[in-house]
Amino acid sequence: MIKSFDLAQDSEHFAATIQGGVGQYYNVSGRLRPDGRASELKCNALPWAKKGHRCKHQVAALLAAENEQKTNKTSSVTQIILRF
Ligand SMILES: [Zn+2]
Repeated sequence: MIKSFDLAQDSEHFAATIQGGVGQYYNVSGRLRPDGRASELKCNALPWAKKGHRCKHQVAALLAAENEQKTNKTSSVTQIILRF
């Protein structure tokens, strides 16, 4: 479950907080390029996740990033309306 999600102004870099369980939070950051390639992924969950392997938190964050990028591109007007 995604607790918070932030997409940077370049629409590529992101930072997310994923809730893994009760009181368990994982910080994920990374970059999703326009061609759909992910890089610079980091997660504080497991030691192997830090070495460039993908864990489920990173996957969740990537899905959110993809979704956010689409939303930003298709209609900023819709987004503004939705905020009000
Ligand atoms: Zn993780």
